[in-house]
Amino acid sequence: MTTLRVAVVGAGPAGIYTSDLLLKAERAFDVSVDLFEQLPAPYGLVRYGVAPDHPRIKGIVNALREVLDRGDIRLFGNVRFGTDVTIDDLKRHYHAVVFATGASRDARLEVPGHEFEGSFGAADFVSWYDGHPDVPREWPLTHREVAVIGNGNVALDVARMLVKHPEDLEPTEVPANVLEGLRASPITDVHVVGRRGPLQVKFTPLELRELGELRDVDIILNDDDFGLDPASDELAQTNKQLLVINRILSSWREREVGSASRRLHLHFYSKPLEVVGDGAVQALRFERTRPDGAGGVVGTGEVRDLPVQAVYRAIGYFGSPLADIPFDEHRGVIPNSGGRALDESGEELPGIYATGWIKRGPQGLIGATKSDAMETVQNLLNGQSGWWSPLDPSPEAIPALLGERGVRFTDVSGWHNLDEHEKSLGASSGRERVKVVPRDEMIEISLNRSVTG
Ligand code: NAP
Repeated sequence: MTTLRVAVVGAGPAGIYTSDLLLKAERAFDVSVDLFEQLPAPYGLVRYGVAPDHPRIKGIVNALREVLDRGDIRLFGNVRFGTDVTIDDLKRHYHAVVFATGASRDARLEVPGHEFEGSFGAADFVSWYDGHPDVPREWPLTHREVAVIGNGNVALDVARMLVKHPEDLEPTEVPANVLEGLRASPITDVHVVGRRGPLQVKFTPLELRELGELRDVDIILNDDDFGLDPASDELAQTNKQLLVINRILSSWREREVGSASRRLHLHFYSKPLEVVGDGAVQALRFERTRPDGAGGVVGTGEVRDLPVQAVYRAIGYFGSPLADIPFDEHRGVIPNSGGRALDESGEELPGIYATGWIKRGPQGLIGATKSDAMETVQNLLNGQSGWWSPLDPSPEAIPALLGERGVRFTDVSGWHNLDEHEKSLGASSGRERVKVVPRDEMIEISLNRSVTG
């Protein structure tokens, strides 16, 4: 073997970091990387998971862009693993594959009524407001009072996007249909509901603080949610993150409220029991909990109803299974040891690796994905005895195969076309970018064809 040929599936941060590390790692042989992505554009959750009013996170795009622009990674966009290319194709043309397909579905909340009209998964809503090409363009924003279940950063993103006045989103890259939908929303109250206490939240201080800066939105806290947990209060003295969260919440409790036209309520110690309704959401029923002294909570038996017409479930993401690749249904990941995929009996599967959220589950900020990729890359490079022996490792074989199958794949220069196009759409309205949403249009622009022709 003169060149190790690696396929990486998924062009989000995990896939791009992995490709980069594979090419930069010290090794005694050449490496070539082909990056497959089911969407016509790269960057995964950075493009389709980060809220449009969070441009500072979008700064990560600059780092990812530098990697792709170097020109030593081939990108095949609009190529679906399992249909457009299969594991047998990859075995024929590569020595190994790394799956970096992330976790983009909502974790299920198994409470009665979760399927009612007006009960939504946060991941679907995020896909909508980020202009994902595969979700409907319309979102039913007809509710005045809404509950968001969960105390993670996604819950805060969803709550903020719902309660923020749409004019304040205008300068961002929010798609036009989303802005229009939000403008028509009659929303007045968003209730964020966490099952544990104010110092057991998963969201981060920066994201929490931002809520307090929303124009014409009062933050409402319940006094009964505070002072219940001396153990956590003590911990907050030494843990910087908790200390800041504690300070932010305390300062909000001092604030004058009552003048804003919209309200964001934070409820803690409230464990969801049921979505109440007659087919459509009428309330969220929850049980009050109290601290168990060890970071957890126990039920108090006291049940309350929060009258709302919609419920957003933001209790975490979940991975999706890939064709002919083992999948842990319980954790939503590819079972693995240090990124080496394992079969049902726990044996290593030659040539198959995982990285990012499909490896470790949907936790951690984007930066954590890099150290995770390092582990997978090391194990791949050291695992020579397990690599496949491809019958046809020539770089031309894959574009030829996709061409034969009629797959309209996009590449890095196609992405530049789309990127430039979106930026020029934005420039005309003083915005950084206006995203192109329909998949066909994204492909046509990438392939440099007229969308009207
Ligand atoms: P997360 O951080 O894991 O938070 C999930 C929340 O849902 C937790 O508060 C959890 O409570 C709660 N939950 C889980 N199961 C529940 C149930 N059955 N009933 C009630 N509540 C339940 O997940 P996430 O918010 O989806 O975020 C995923 C990752 O993306 C995180 O690392 C996050 O920081 C990152 N992210 C970052 C940003 C950003 O702006 N920086 C934006 C979005 C996402 P318990 O703690 O009690 O389990």
